[in-house]
Amino acid sequence: MIADVIELFFVFLRQIFNIRFPSMKVMKFGGTSVGSAQRIKDVAKLITSRGKNIVVLSAMSGTTNTLVEISDYLYKNNPAGAKETVNALENKYKETIDNLFSDEQYKRQALDAISANMDFIRAYNKPVFTVFDEKEILARGEMMSTALMQLYLLQQNVNAVMLPALDFMRTDKNSEPDSEYIRTKLLSLLEDNPDADLYITQGFVCKNAYGEIDNLQRGGSDYTASLIGAAINAEEIEIWTDIDGMHNNDPRFVEGTTPVEQLHFEEAAELAYFGAKILHPTCVLPAKLNNIPVRLLNTMCPEAKGTLIYNAPATHTIKAVAAKDNITAIKIKSGRMLLAYGFLRKVFEIFETHRTSIDMIVTSEVGVSVTIDNERNLPAILDDLKKFGTVTVDKDMVIICVVGDLEWQNRGFEAEVVNALKEIPVRMISYGGSNYNISLLVRKSDKVRALNLLSDRLFKNK
Ligand code: ADP
Ligand code: ASP
Ligand code: MG
Repeated sequence: MIADVIELFFVFLRQIFNIRFPSMKVMKFGGTSVGSAQRIKDVAKLITSRGKNIVVLSAMSGTTNTLVEISDYLYKNNPAGAKETVNALENKYKETIDNLFSDEQYKRQALDAISANMDFIRAYNKPVFTVFDEKEILARGEMMSTALMQLYLLQQNVNAVMLPALDFMRTDKNSEPDSEYIRTKLLSLLEDNPDADLYITQGFVCKNAYGEIDNLQRGGSDYTASLIGAAINAEEIEIWTDIDGMHNNDPRFVEGTTPVEQLHFEEAAELAYFGAKILHPTCVLPAKLNNIPVRLLNTMCPEAKGTLIYNAPATHTIKAVAAKDNITAIKIKSGRMLLAYGFLRKVFEIFETHRTSIDMIVTSEVGVSVTIDNERNLPAILDDLKKFGTVTVDKDMVIICVVGDLEWQNRGFEAEVVNALKEIPVRMISYGGSNYNISLLVRKSDKVRALNLLSDRLFKNK
């Protein structure tokens, strides 16, 4: 009784003073980090040596794509195709389990957990398969990876407590995270399990405002980590992946890239938004708003420094380059734009009506060029824009984004960037929207060359 009163008193204190868990970290591991039995063992070792933290896991690499493929068969009303793909996936998991568990009891439990998920998917045989069904199926990837990790840790005598993401991760009616709900539910789950050695939860999956299973978009486990970090006021949010931090250019297209040691939140946000796949674009904001440092680390090389993202001081340097694909540029020319106040408002309203956001924008006296990364409503947008001016469209473009501390009083950055690309046709240039980026629009066919030229000029021999 007295214990209950004391407990209630502390709950009350926490609510009033917003005291949370500042000594805890959130550690998120992506698909490749848990992609095989050996990787799961490595991650288990890593997380058990680092204290009582919350560990967020993605699905094992390849699983979410396979679940998308299975859903595709079900959309096309081909349950046989779906079942064949489920069976192949189940075999892969059985092999992982064989290599992961030495104890028969845990092996049995792991096999049962995987079969329950696979049976759930195999049972789909509806004539009409909906987006809600697909979300139920996609959530299974993270449920399986976390089940395997928890059972493996239990086998190793680590008291790993599962915090089911579906019990606390929720979005509101605008599909935005419901921060208050997440915080309250998560804190009460943590308080219910004080004896844990560490906690495990699923990235990516959530429930929506109507209680249906949903997700935070592909790659969204980073977002889960950041939302949890904000909810518990974590000491740090660690994103563990297959590379030693944010590199100064996209390593998939440029050789010899190197990790950037420190980034300001704003720089990281620009890079993530403009194509640096290592970080999901949504991940930065909750960390920035709560001033929680984000560290990007390499599971395959845990001792590497990685990248620290925080309120970093200005360095007056260019830090990194990224590229965002599938961009369409639209130019609207109006002979009377100079005198026609309200012209830009009308243009923007059209994009708003068609729920399409604009990435880049440049204006001149006679017209405006904007870019979009979502062509779904392009025909309707063009129809409406033609009422206000002459419209031209360039498809298959790429935004190249140069990021750093680019405050306008600094000299020479623009010249360096433009000079690097002097051989490449540039459709748009945008600078001054923030202190952190210069964006250039080029053809898709020039992307790799542009990235390499920028690396040569900006980072080699410096
Ligand atoms: P995870 O599955 O762990 O979430 P991702 O595949 O989403 O990992 O992100 C890591 C990958 O991001 C790297 O393997 C790398 O190819 C890619 N990447 C793209 N741009 C960058 C960059 N600037 N720095 C580091 N990695 C990058
Ligand atoms: N498993 C999900 C995906 O592949 C989420 C993630 O990995 O972040 O998109
Ligand atoms: Mg990722």
